[in-house]
Amino acid sequence: MDWLKREGFTIVASRNPKWRRDELILACDVVARNNWKGLYPEDSRIAELSDLLQLLAAYPVEERAATYRNRNRAARKTFDVATHHPGYTKKRTNGGRLDREVLQDFLDRPTEMAQAAHLLREGLKHGTLDPVPLEEDDDDAEDEASAPEGRVLYRRHRTRERNKGLRKKKISAVLKVGGTLACEVCGFDFAAVYGERGEGYIECHHVVPLHEAGEGTIKLSDLALICSNRHRMIHRSAPWPTPPELRAIVQRQATAGGVSLPGPRVATELIAST
Ligand SMILES: [Zn+2]
Ligand SMILES: [Zn+2]
Repeated sequence: MDWLKREGFTIVASRNPKWRRDELILACDVVARNNWKGLYPEDSRIAELSDLLQLLAAYPVEERAATYRNRNRAARKTFDVATHHPGYTKKRTNGGRLDREVLQDFLDRPTEMAQAAHLLREGLKHGTLDPVPLEEDDDDAEDEASAPEGRVLYRRHRTRERNKGLRKKKISAVLKVGGTLACEVCGFDFAAVYGERGEGYIECHHVVPLHEAGEGTIKLSDLALICSNRHRMIHRSAPWPTPPELRAIVQRQATAGGVSLPGPRVATELIAST
């Protein structure tokens, strides 16, 4: 296919790719706000949805067919969602497994999912969210795929966590009150274990969930210092455990196995109150 592109041909896919979670969150939200009824292509809310899906650009151009997320397709998706609502008693349209998963997330956590949709919508409209198609083989792909609030919000969250300036501030605040850079969940201290090589190393976790992480400044008390292993486990599936909740899990497992954990850290609790 590459040579065709080089020769100046435009490649157009013949079928549209599957709907992604972020797209379904936007569609499901429209249905939820319409009392769980599907909407028709002429509806202005469908026009808005279709526009948002174009902005979201969940797939690169060459994977889109001519009808990609147009009004008809967007409207049809709202019926896939609506006809799978438990209150719907007539014949259901087909739809996919992910449609039903996202619908279930909306039923289980309506406020959170509505907030996530709101953030997504506003971020796309105002260009504050990164609408680049997401790579499947990315390191974070698995975590992204399991984040109920969708990959775009998840990715923004991780980018914020990796902000070097914030991490630095958090670390110096902890050191200033006499704390160490030990993990808040398990007490693992990179410097203690790796010596000079581990000096100053620890990851920063942003404890505010995706659907609440709107624009605005991040407080140092919203950041927790967590070792790489535990951090990975927090993000593995949603809802994320808080550091104390994960600590309780680790502790339970350790007790069951007859192992004791290092004591909890106090430094962050100290600066959390400042
Ligand atoms: Zn994190
Ligand atoms: Zn740890």
